[in-house]
Amino acid sequence: MTTSYHAEGLPYPEDAPVSQALFDRASAIVPGGVNSPVRAFRAVGGTPRFMSQGKGPWLTDADGRRYVDLVCSWGPLIHGHAHPEIVAAVQEAAARGTSFGTPTVGEVDLAEEIVRRTPVDEVRLVNSGTEATMTAIRLARGCTGRSKIVKFAGCYHGHVDALLAAAGSGVATLGLPDSPGVTGAATAETIVLPYNDVEAVELAFAANGDEIAAVITEAAAGNMGVVAPRDGFNQRLAEIAQAHGALLIVDEVMTGFRVSAGGWAGLEPVDADLFTFGKVMGGGLPAAAFGGRREIMSRLAPAGPVYQAGTLSGNPLACAAGLASLRLADDAVYKRLDELSVTVGSLASVALNEAGVAHHLSYAGNMFSIFFTDDDVADYDAAKTQNAAQFKAFFHTMLSRGVYLPPSAFESWFVSTALDDAALEQIAAALPHAARAAGEAS
Ligand SMILES: *Cc1c(COP(=O)(O)O)cnc(C)c1O
Repeated sequence: MTTSYHAEGLPYPEDAPVSQALFDRASAIVPGGVNSPVRAFRAVGGTPRFMSQGKGPWLTDADGRRYVDLVCSWGPLIHGHAHPEIVAAVQEAAARGTSFGTPTVGEVDLAEEIVRRTPVDEVRLVNSGTEATMTAIRLARGCTGRSKIVKFAGCYHGHVDALLAAAGSGVATLGLPDSPGVTGAATAETIVLPYNDVEAVELAFAANGDEIAAVITEAAAGNMGVVAPRDGFNQRLAEIAQAHGALLIVDEVMTGFRVSAGGWAGLEPVDADLFTFGKVMGGGLPAAAFGGRREIMSRLAPAGPVYQAGTLSGNPLACAAGLASLRLADDAVYKRLDELSVTVGSLASVALNEAGVAHHLSYAGNMFSIFFTDDDVADYDAAKTQNAAQFKAFFHTMLSRGVYLPPSAFESWFVSTALDDAALEQIAAALPHAARAAGEAS
C-alpha cells in the first residue's frame, strides 16, 4: 500500500508518524536511535525514515510512502533493490546452510572474480570496509617495519582508530572533532594532508620518509562529497611512496566495482601496493576485501606472520550475493550507470541554475554530488565552504516529493541501473521545487 500524494502533485506531509514511533522506540535503547550515524538526520533535521521495502529503484517507508532511491545503501546496490537473481542466489545459499566456519566454494568464486577484475594478485575476504582498511594498514606496517601513515583530510576509511583523523563521511556530516576514545598514541602516527596536494606529500616524505609505512587514499574521494583526484595525483602518490620504501593503499571500498568493472583502477591505472574493497562486492550483504601484490599478501597469516581473522569472513550468503551482483555487472551495466549519473546530475544542475542557486556539480566516474558553493572543490577545506542551510532545504523538499537523497551534503549520490522512466520522472518533477527551496534558504 502506498500513498499517492504525487498523483495530485502534493508533497508528503512533514511528519512521518510510523517512522517517528519506531525512532522513539529505537532511541530509547540504541544510541541516537541508529546503528550507523550517517542514517540519522542530524545534519538535515527531522525524523529518519524507517524503510520497510526496496524494489528496483524504489524504497517504501514504514508510513507507506514511496521514494526513488539515490543512496542505494550508500553505494552497494548498483542493480537496485531486490534484484531477482541476487535474491535467488541468497535464498539458494541460505537453504544450503548459513555458515560453516570452513572454506567454501563461494569464497573461491568471489575471490577469483575480484582478482580477474582488479590489479590484485591475492585477496582476503572480510566483513566490512573498516576491517579491510584496518588490516591493510597493519599489513603495511608489518611489511615495512615502520609506523607512520599518511591520510588525506576528508577521506573516510571506516572507523579505524588510526584513520579517524580529519575523517569524512559521518564525522564530516556531524562536524565532529576527531573521536574521543581514539588515543593520542593511535593517531600520533597518522599524518593528515590536504587532498590533491602533491607538494604536501613530498614535504611530508622529505621530513619523515623513512618512518612512513603507507599512504592511504580513497581511489576517488566520495566521503567529503565527491572530489575526483587531480590528473596524475594517485600515480604520483605511488611514485613518492615507492621512492621512499613506503606502500600505497588505494581504498576502493566505494569506487570498487561501481565506477567500472575494475573499479577506479579500471579508469585510471595506478601502481598501488594494496587495494581495499567493500560495498558493491557484497551485493547488499556484509562482505569486503583487501588485496594486492603477492609478496605483500603472503605476509598475512597463516602464510605469514601478520595476523588477521574472522568468524564470518567469506560468509556463504554474502559471497553468493556479491558474486551474483558482480556477474550481472557487465560493460552494459557500467555504461548505463554512467549515463544515468549524467542524466540525474544534469537535471539537478539545470533546476538549480533556473532557481539561481550557486552550486558545483562534481563527478568521479558515476559517483557525483552537488556542492552548494561557488568554489571549484578539490579538497576538504573547499568542500566545507558549502551552504548547509541550502542543502537542508533541498534535501527535505526532495524527500517530501519522493526522492531519497543522502541526508548529508558530504556524501555521494548513487544511481542504480534500476532507475526507469517513472523514477526519472519523479526526480525531474521534484527538482524544481527543491531548487526553489534551496534558493529561498540562502
Ligand atoms: C564505506 C567506506 C569504508 C568503510 O566501509 P564499512 O563497510 O562501512 O566499514 C571505507 N572506505 C571507504 C572509501 C568507504 O566509502
